[in-house]
Parts: sequence; structure tokens; C-alpha cells
Amino acid sequence: MNPALRKTVIAGNWKMHKTPAEAKALLGELLPLVKDAACQVIVCVPFVDLPAALEAAAGTCVAVGAQNCHWETSGAFTGEISPAMLTSMGVSHVILGHSERRTYFGETDQTVNRRLRAALQAGLCPIVCVGESLEQRQQGITQEFVSMQVKIALQGVSREELRRVTFAYEPIWAIGTGRTATAEQAGEVCAGIRATLAALYGKECAQGTTIQYGGSMNAGNAAELLAQEDVDGGLIGGASLKAPDFAAIVAAAR
Ligand code: PEP
Repeated sequence: MNPALRKTVIAGNWKMHKTPAEAKALLGELLPLVKDAACQVIVCVPFVDLPAALEAAAGTCVAVGAQNCHWETSGAFTGEISPAMLTSMGVSHVILGHSERRTYFGETDQTVNRRLRAALQAGLCPIVCVGESLEQRQQGITQEFVSMQVKIALQGVSREELRRVTFAYEPIWAIGTGRTATAEQAGEVCAGIRATLAALYGKECAQGTTIQYGGSMNAGNAAELLAQEDVDGGLIGGASLKAPDFAAIVAAAR
């Protein structure tokens, strides 16, 4: 990470875990542990937990995010939540294009692009997830594949809007598997994403964009991953569900 050039961001992705009462309890434990955080801290919680999380985190250094949003403002889209619904509650961040949404719910690079443009238009700060499968890594096409995901996601996104976008490089083979990318692998792909951003928006914009690593990041490996120049934080799944573990990752981002 390079805090002189860009924000360091540690974000928790709670996935489909925690009822509102459990969310309140987890944040009650977490907030005192991260009150002196030297980086930006975000918790991305299930939709039903947003009110409880927003209430618990009000006035603290922790921002609250959702895990997806639709591209329309309203309409006949049963089961969906619009960006405007999120901002109306005070939600500031949203994860888009997580590999679990791509794998299980038919998310494509094109729908990620639509969601991203809508989220930006509504004033949200999106965290856009990209990353290769194990097969793609073994075929040696990781950089091209990730670069293509970044390019499609950003179609129609202005330089000004890019300032609110964070990328999360999440190799699919490392998510929830306990198998972490080496610091070098993470650094290499995050640097590749930055090179793609530089080609699209210029070097200055690219240097200012936060690029996280995600995939079995934990208290034990966070410092090494974050020591990479182009790894500006983490998107944390499993370890974000335990307050001491998540707080230890936040502490590693000093
Ligand atoms: C994630 O869900 O974005 C993630 C990185 O999960 P985990 O930390 O559990 O691998």
C-alpha cells in the first residue's frame, strides 16, 4: 500500500451471515477495537442488517455498505434493491460483481457495468470485484482476463466518477478456501489492474485508485499482502465475521 498516494481500505463482506440482532452484537464488539484505525473501514452487510448496522456505526469511523444493487431506480424487479434505496438509508458503499454473484446468480461483466454506472449516478462508492478462476491462472491468462473485466466494468465511467471506485482483486480459487494468493501474486495482478487504469484514464488517476486484495486474507497474512506497493487494502469474507480477527487486519493496515 502507499497511503501517500491513495486511501487504504479494509472492507468486510459478511455475505449471507448474521441476523440484525447478531449484526448489532458483532458491531458492538468490533467498533471499540477499530476506533483508532489508520485506514478506512467498511462493513458490507446483508440488506436486512443495514438499519441495525447504520445505527450502530453512526458517528464512528466505520462506513456501512451493501453487497449488491440493481441498475434501475425502481420497477418490476422482484427481489432487487436499487441504488437510490441504499442512499436513502444512508448507505455509502456497495460491493459489485463479487465472484459468488457471478457464479451463482448469472452476473456478467455487462451487468456489473450497468450496476456500476447506476451506483455511481446515485452517489454510492462501489467496490468492484474482479479475479480469475484456477483454470485461467493455470492457462496463464490471469492478467488479460482481469484487465478485460476492469475494462468492461468501466465502460461509460468518467474520470471524475472513477475517484469513488475501489477495485478488489479476488482470485476465485482463494475465496473462502483458506488458500491465499502469495503476496507477489496479489501484488502482480493489482499492479496489472493499475496499468489498465493508467491506459484508460492516465497515470495520475490510476495512482489514486484504491485496489484491494481479497481471498482468505486473515490476521496472519494481512501484513505481508498489504506490504505490496499496489495492494491498498483488503476485502475480507470469513475473517470479517469475528471482531478480533477483522480488527487485527485493520491494525495491519498501518
Ligand atoms: C470475499 O468474500 O470477498 C472473500 C474474500 O472471502 P474470504 O475472505 O472468506 O476468502
